[in-house]
Formats: sequence, structure tokens, C-alpha cells
Amino acid sequence: MELTETQAQHAFRDEVRGFLQEQLPADLRHKVKELLRLERDDFVRWHNIIADRGWTGPTWPAEYGGTGWGPIERKIFDEECFLAYAPRLIPHVNMIMPVLQRYGTPAQKDRFLSRIWRLQDWWCQGYSEPGAGSDLASLKTRAERRGDKYIVTGQKIWTTWAHYADWMFCLVRTNPEGKPQEGISFLLIDMKSPGVSVRPIISIDGVHDLNEVFLDQVEVPFENLVGEENKGWTVAKYLLSHERTDLAAVGLCKRFMAYLHRAAERKTLRGRPLLEDARIQERIAQLEMELQAHEWTVMRVLSQDESGKNAGAAASILKIRSSELQQSITSMISEMAGPQGLRYVNEAREADWNGELPGGLFGNALVAHHLDWRKVTIFGGTTEVQKNIVSKSFLGL
Ligand SMILES: Cc1cc2nc3c(=O)[nH]c(=O)nc-3n(C[C@H](O)[C@H](O)[C@H](O)COP(=O)(O)OP(=O)(O)OC[C@H]3O[C@@H](n4cnc5c(N)ncnc54)[C@H](O)[C@@H]3O)c2cc1C
Repeated sequence: MELTETQAQHAFRDEVRGFLQEQLPADLRHKVKELLRLERDDFVRWHNIIADRGWTGPTWPAEYGGTGWGPIERKIFDEECFLAYAPRLIPHVNMIMPVLQRYGTPAQKDRFLSRIWRLQDWWCQGYSEPGAGSDLASLKTRAERRGDKYIVTGQKIWTTWAHYADWMFCLVRTNPEGKPQEGISFLLIDMKSPGVSVRPIISIDGVHDLNEVFLDQVEVPFENLVGEENKGWTVAKYLLSHERTDLAAVGLCKRFMAYLHRAAERKTLRGRPLLEDARIQERIAQLEMELQAHEWTVMRVLSQDESGKNAGAAASILKIRSSELQQSITSMISEMAGPQGLRYVNEAREADWNGELPGGLFGNALVAHHLDWRKVTIFGGTTEVQKNIVSKSFLGL
């Protein structure tokens, strides 16, 4: 395993850093750095800047405008974006795009691929249902074939950004008989279709990202079926393999460490910054060591990936470890806020808010971040489910 970057990788890091210095708009950087709320247009604007540079699809084949980067380049790109306080690229792009590339009909490719490239269509993921999360194959949203269309009825839940979305890639049941996995199909649903309604779920930090999506007799043309009818489970799993590749989150953890340092510099105890307190220094050092160890593990897995060996169940270990780290760092920030962290003003995270807060705007946002980040052990496969995978694959249990 190589722990240092090659000359070419080092040059690539410089190139990405230079691009970010020149092209990342100051207002977007400010919003991300101060943990202010990003709007739909902010994401679209950033996405288009990245598209102009040709970097939208790090994992796509060159014929679809992919970058041709290896896993180490992808890690470097992610890390630099996080450290520069760039907005995140919308993850759904790198879920639906590879699926359409592999399983889409020529007409679907023609219709959707170039629009995804520039985020002209915003996609959301309609997998989970009130009774189907970890046990996804038990989903019940029903699609009945009538002539050249499906009639879809059911409910999806936790649908991130459904209120922004133009389209939803959706798992539906087309056959209620037999093995649950064998009666599922993968449909593309226009969110403007009659019968689709979106209801917000406000999360613990007061933010509206999540939704319930209700489907009431929604007509979906047969041409919007991806892959074969009743073979949607294969398509769904292929998509999830792309969702899970970036869950190691080294760049994100480094950004959190930067927030932690900044909070420890700003927050004072008896007139001195917390950063000068030996106990705080010790805890920060501990987190830094853990993050360094995590990064080395990630590098080890990525090196194997580069030599053609799939990460497989090791990806679950990376997801568990990165979730633990993200939560430890955000918890420590919240602890440092002390009693000031007890009061949280949601409106203060709008860019145009100009009230006063005892802990300052940044402190207020960091507390929200701590609350929000409880989610990381749930989405993308819960920690318990990841542990099941590890125990089966590595321990043979
Ligand atoms: C912030 C956020 C965003 C999300 N965005 C989307 C989205 O855009 N689209 C979408 O489709 N879904 C989305 N989800 C849903 C997510 O995929 C599910 O929440 C997740 O799969 C868990 O399912 P569940 O919530 O139904 O919990 P359950 O599966 O009911 O699990 C409940 C508890 O039981 C445990 N458990 C379940 N099965 C086992 C087992 N076999 N062994 C041991 N323990 C077990 C779990 O670990 C958990 O602690 C999102 C979730 C969150 C939190």
C-alpha cells in the first residue's frame, strides 16, 4: 500500500485546488463555511461550474463525459472540495446516471443523460417506504400494467429533496407473488404527474430536506421502465453500489475537524480560547489520530480497488468508522458550546438573517449540525445492518 501521493497525484491535487480557488463563487463558499442554508439554485449553479470543467461524472465511462479518474483521484477531488468549502454535488446524479448508462434504453439515454449532466432535471430516490427500509425488498408500492402504462399507488418516505425534484427513480412492486426480490421493477416517475403529492418532514434541526411522497393512481408510461419488468432488484442493487462508494467521507471529516478547530479558537473559558486548554488539546489530538488511521484504512481499500479488487464488505467497515468519527467530532463541537448550545435559532441559518445570538451565528449552526448528524448512522444502510454484513463476510457468522 502506498501512503504518499505520486507526483502525478500531487499535481492533480494542485490542479483541483487551483480550480477551486478561481471558480468557487465567494458567496457559496461563505454559505458553506458559515453553515448557512443552501437553496436549490445554489446547488445548480455550482453543479454547472463543475460541468463546465468536465468533472461532473468521476465514475462514468469517457463516452458519457466521465473523467477517467481512479479511486485515489476521486478521493483527492472530494477532499479538496470539502476543504475549500464547496457545496456538495448532488449525490443522486451519480446514482441515476450509471444506472441509465448500463440499463437505460437508447430513448431513455437520449432523453435524460445530457440533462442530468447539467442538473437540468433534479432527481430523487424513491426506495424507502414506511414498512420497508433496511428490509427494502418488502416494499409495497404497487404498479399495475394497463396497456402501455403502469398505474402506481403507494407511499415513499424519507425522500431527500423530493420537493426540488423533477423526476424520481422509484422501486415498485409489479408482482406480489413469489420471492419479494423477484417482483420489483425500477420506474422513472415524472414528479409533475397527476396523483403525485409531496409532504415535508421537518428534521430535528428544523430543516426541510426530507419528505413523504404519496402516489395515487399515477400513470407512468411503459417506456419509463428501466431494465426488465420484475428485474428491478438487480438495477436497484447496482445503483446502491454507487451510493455507497463515497461513504468513507474522509474529506467531510476533515472539514468537520476544521469547524472544530475554529470553534475551539472562538469559544473562550475564563478569557482564554478553549484551544489553549490541555484537555481540549488532548481530545482534538485523539480525534486527529483516529481520523488519520481511518484515512490510512481508506487508502488501503482504495489501493486494492485500483488494482481491480472490489472493496466489497470493507466498504461497510469504512461506513461504520466514518459515521462514528463524524458523530464524535460534531458531538465534541456541541459540548464545547456549553449552555449556549441549548438555544438554537433555526432562522439564523438564512443568509439574510441579522439578529443577535449569544454563541454567535457560527456556534448556533454548529449545534444544529450536531443534531442533524445523528442521521449518518441510518442513511446509506444503518450501522447495525453494516455490522451484519461485516460479521457474515469477515467472521463467517
Ligand atoms: C437523512 C436521511 C435521508 C434519507 N434519504 C432517503 C432517500 O432519499 N430515499 C430513500 O429511499 N430513502 C432515504 N432514507 C431512508 C433510509 O434509507 C432508511 O432510513 C434506512 O434504510 C433504514 O430504514 P428504516 O428507517 O425503515 O429503519 P428500519 O429498517 O426499520 O430499522 C430500524 C432499526 O432496526 C435496525 N435493524 C433493521 N434491520 C436489522 C437487522 N437485520 N439486524 C439488526 N438490526 C436491524 C436498524 O439498524 C435500525 O436501528 C433516508 C434516511 C435518512 C435518515
